[in-house]
Amino acid sequence: MKILLFGGAGYIGTHVALAFQERGDTVGIYDNFSSGLRENLLEGSIVYEGDILDRTRLQEVLAQKWDAVVHLAAFKAAGESMTRPEKYAQNNITGSLNLITECVAAGVKNFVLSSSAAVYGEPVYLPIDEQHPTNPENYYGYTKLAIERHLQWFDTLKGLKFAALRYFNAAGYDPEGKMTGLEHSPANLIPVVMEAAVGKREALKIFGDDYDTEDGTGVRDYVHVTDLADAHVRAVDYLVKNQKSLTVNLGSESGLSVLEILEASRKISGQKIPAEFTGRRPGDPAKLVATSKMANSLLGWYPKYSSLDSIIASTWNVYHRHFPGH
Ligand code: UDP
Repeated sequence: MKILLFGGAGYIGTHVALAFQERGDTVGIYDNFSSGLRENLLEGSIVYEGDILDRTRLQEVLAQKWDAVVHLAAFKAAGESMTRPEKYAQNNITGSLNLITECVAAGVKNFVLSSSAAVYGEPVYLPIDEQHPTNPENYYGYTKLAIERHLQWFDTLKGLKFAALRYFNAAGYDPEGKMTGLEHSPANLIPVVMEAAVGKREALKIFGDDYDTEDGTGVRDYVHVTDLADAHVRAVDYLVKNQKSLTVNLGSESGLSVLEILEASRKISGQKIPAEFTGRRPGDPAKLVATSKMANSLLGWYPKYSSLDSIIASTWNVYHRHFPGH
């Protein structure tokens, strides 16, 4: 098949590209390289430099007939979305609407959206299933929910079939070491911990020690990016076969606190990793843990690499390679 990945040069996108390419699909990468990792681009993929805000460029590339589109082009820092909502509105919402409408115009039938657990907000019960109320606590989560709703309308009105994949916390690197590019200025916990481990930043700032969790720090469901990538391949196959839209959680079904991540990182890296407590970050729920039963049954998806050790070790391998003194 011919698969076009928007945001295909990003941290998750390059892992998704690898999964499609490894099973023999033709992969197109459309990216504006604002945070894309050129060193992670695979030989054989077709690269289109472009922005999802540029409708002419979208039309040009979509005209080349794709069996499915995967949309991962978004800003993803929940904290930043609370202070710079305009940036998130423009790129995540306006850009996605451009993309969806141009896909329909070009006759694309299958659309996979990189969505997020952030659509749920503060849980009213755990683990979170897909029926859980959606009440985002940060603007980033709202942008993802808005795109999901637009997709539902475009399914009803235009027959565009979509898979909304609600990732919990994406983490880890290709276990075989094929991806070597590091994210620039990361804001997510694990890369921040790694940067503190290699001395690229002074210390990890732990956002809050008074959450209603076992050790007082935020709890998240970390899922390996290689497992997420596999789910995209399965989602495309599902859409092609069933011509039916779906919305599923993708999580490991286990919750880990900031302190547990820090401890495991210290152990695996052998580094001290300085850390200090600071106040809570606005928009952060205390605890998010998924049930992925729907992805199990509809996609046959089960995470294989999402243990804490496998996530931290695969990430440390890449950071260690860039900063060999550590
Ligand atoms: N976190 C932290 N320090 C950081 C980054 C994140 O303490 O520098 C915490 C954050 O409050 C949350 C967890 O780590 O409890 C995961 O945050 P991340 O930004 O990675 O993902 P999110 O769940 O916000 O999408």
